[in-house]
Amino acid sequence: MNQARIGIIGGSGLGQAFAEQVAGREVQIDTPFGSPSGPILLTSWQGVDIAFLSRHGPGHLLNPSTIPYRANLFALKQLGVTHVIASGATGSLREEFQPRHLVVCDQLIDRTYRRENTFFDSGMVAHVEFAEPFCPMLRQLLIEANSGMDTVVHPAGTYICMEGPAFSTAAESRMHRQIGGDLIGMTALPEAKLAREAEMCYTLLALPTDYDSWRPHEPGMDRGQLLAEIIGNLQAATENAIALLRSVIPALATRLDNPCPCREALQLAIWSDKKQVHPADVNRLRPLVARYFPAPPSLMYPKR
Ligand SMILES: [Zn+2]
Repeated sequence: MNQARIGIIGGSGLGQAFAEQVAGREVQIDTPFGSPSGPILLTSWQGVDIAFLSRHGPGHLLNPSTIPYRANLFALKQLGVTHVIASGATGSLREEFQPRHLVVCDQLIDRTYRRENTFFDSGMVAHVEFAEPFCPMLRQLLIEANSGMDTVVHPAGTYICMEGPAFSTAAESRMHRQIGGDLIGMTALPEAKLAREAEMCYTLLALPTDYDSWRPHEPGMDRGQLLAEIIGNLQAATENAIALLRSVIPALATRLDNPCPCREALQLAIWSDKKQVHPADVNRLRPLVARYFPAPPSLMYPKR
């Protein structure tokens, strides 16, 4: 197969469902930031080469705080991926974002506190712009996709990323509504930031499964029934998400070379004096920064 330029990161629900539906070649990748959540599946889907990664790893063993986000994004970059569509299960903080709907998020609020959130942690400094955390082109494709689905696709939503793994208290859930959140999840960050630092177009399809804890549960339902309802909602939302991706991927494949600001995120972001950055630090991040650190003339033109 050709090099995959489209990456899909599957979260709870979609990760497993997708892996069961497609076959391909699994590759183990090593990165300066360790190993990704699991092998990356290279496959052809809807006639398009894609790279698929299950965020929580085989068997869903990695919790949101321990997912190797940096290795995941770096591995996709090493494989040549330029565009990433991610999915994630969320709680809904708004009545109108009903379970089983899909949300093409447009904003993020970071409430995580124990995750490595940059590739540029030593040797050089980069400050990428992040006012619009998701790729506008990918968002538009998802919003416009016509997949004949019988569900609602919301064109915007603010995703609050909490640390977890426990869910929010009712007071926290009410606070998250007050500070502007529409959805709450545990994995969009630092994933979206790292994708921006890696100059990859990235967007997130959120799958609301329940109303978090701000809204009282329906009376008369026991815990088993509530959990069964959440799992049923996740399965239904997952099927909707796969249907949406099925129509988006071929459309995306025709636009991979369209210019997009995400693809030049580092152009003005590296504030370090490039002459003083140690070659070892450039080499470590080579897949990310090579174009900004051309080889010195002595290497490009060997002495006679
Ligand atoms: Zn983009």
